Amino acid sequence: MWGFMIILDGKKLSLLKYELIADKVRAFESRFKRKPKLSVIIVGDDPASHVYVNNKRLACDRVGMLSEIINLPETTTKDELKTRIEKLNIDSSVDGFLVQMPLPKGLKGFEPSDFIKPEKDVDGLSALNMGLMVLNKAHHEPCTPEGVMELLRHYQIELSGKTAVIVGRSQTVGWPMAYMLTRSNCTVTVCHSKTVDIASWTKKADIVVVAAGKPKLLNAKDFKAGAVVVDVGIHREGKFLVGDVDNAGLKEAGIQALTPVPGGVGPMTVAQLIEHTLRAAEKNSQRS
Ligand code: NAD
Repeated sequence: MWGFMIILDGKKLSLLKYELIADKVRAFESRFKRKPKLSVIIVGDDPASHVYVNNKRLACDRVGMLSEIINLPETTTKDELKTRIEKLNIDSSVDGFLVQMPLPKGLKGFEPSDFIKPEKDVDGLSALNMGLMVLNKAHHEPCTPEGVMELLRHYQIELSGKTAVIVGRSQTVGWPMAYMLTRSNCTVTVCHSKTVDIASWTKKADIVVVAAGKPKLLNAKDFKAGAVVVDVGIHREGKFLVGDVDNAGLKEAGIQALTPVPGGVGPMTVAQLIEHTLRAAEKNSQRS
């Protein structure tokens, strides 16, 4: 018999969030006589990065925030990029900003987040914010795992006492995800590229978050019936986008809930960024 599988619809939830944020932006504007502003630095011509940056700009438009895209050439040096970052740090008209990753090869080893002021680090990836997160004091927490937590909360997925397996231990997704789920009283296991027999772990988990960056790495036989599957991966396959999970047969396998790709974690990541920018603007305006 085919089961019923909940689609954790990040597109729908992000639109709901934008409505609430747009109301708050209007209130902010009438109080402070200005709009919140997000700046994004993009270095070089990576087409995927330009798509991501454009999505951020559209989200700002949607809620009535200002956005500024700073296009820098592929040949930008580390010193030049650091100078641009420092300028944004002290520009009081900019509430939050980020440097779109990945950077071109010439900037290998340069970590923008080492230089971004934590209050303006709306991506939540600076060393200080990552450290403060563990003390529950970060100015902003990383957008992607935070977006996953929002989705799980919205769909009332029970977390306390559950087992969670995260596949991937990146600084931006897997690692902070492990922390956030632990904080929500899950018992967490982190698998990675050196884990032997990943399926032996995922098959036992109540919640599986897959963020390995490998198309269709896991499939229906890797999960237990009743599992909640969060697919963070995004890959282009011809005209289509696919995730790290092969969706075929998931419903028949009795999976309880799944994030679609596209329309799952991706839109939530942008929504968290926009929420952070509003929060940064409120704090920025209260300070000045
Ligand atoms: P990353 O490359 O920085 O990290 C990948 C992690 O997965 C590493 O820790 C590695 O140990 C692990 N890994 C790699 N191959 C593995 C394998 N075969 N088995 C088990 N573990 C393996 O990637 P990332 O930045 O964490 O992103 C992961 C995926 O999520 C990518 O597809 C990326 O495009 C996507 N992503 C999506 C969003 C979003 O908003 N939806 C945001 C960030 C990243």
